[in-house]
Amino acid sequence: MLSDAQIERYSRQIILPQVGGKGQEKLLRARVLVNGSGPLQTAALLYLAAAGVGTIGVIPNDSSLVLSAFAPGQKEPIFSALTRLNPDCVVVTDKALEAAASKHIVNDYDLVLSPPDSLHEVCYALRRPFLCAQISAASVWLFPCLGYESNHPCLRCLPSAFFAEGADTTAPAALFLGTLQATEAIKLILGLGRSSHGKLLSCQFPALHFSEQIVLKDPQCKLCGRLVS
Ligand SMILES: [Zn+2]
Repeated sequence: MLSDAQIERYSRQIILPQVGGKGQEKLLRARVLVNGSGPLQTAALLYLAAAGVGTIGVIPNDSSLVLSAFAPGQKEPIFSALTRLNPDCVVVTDKALEAAASKHIVNDYDLVLSPPDSLHEVCYALRRPFLCAQISAASVWLFPCLGYESNHPCLRCLPSAFFAEGADTTAPAALFLGTLQATEAIKLILGLGRSSHGKLLSCQFPALHFSEQIVLKDPQCKLCGRLVS
């Protein structure tokens, strides 16, 4: 049950027919794990917190835990920045999360946002959506992996050409992609919109050319191929 303060805080979401009071309650109950604390993750974290995702775990990728992209020169710990943005949001940044490859940690969350990482295999085993985003020098892409479903590919079904070396952490591209990643997470939590599972959304830089590519489950995939029906 939403409090009066929450109804006021989320009023602009609650009036959306796709969200409503029930959807907002779902968001507040949701638990999302974010792998990393760089610019891409910063953008995703801010949108998740602002939308009212109730519990957010952050696996730090450095010891500083800062929202540097938004506050250069005024580095602020993620915990305080997100809870200041939304006091409903519980942020878990315990160092123990660095060992998130262990199943018992991922098991506490509904879905995971991550760059390509071995965490994908843990999510696969636990049947948790793995919203994968990568930035390379010339493009960014977003690929929701639900390979544990018989009709959705996993991360290993992607051709190796997608995993480009020489990542470019240009802040605008990272922030843009993090926002898309958070939007996909909110869609999954709310059960909204068309399924983009098995679809890879990419954007080429500097042309800003968007494309969407269907990715089929690979029958030869060593992780999920056996599920091909
Ligand atoms: Zn696969």
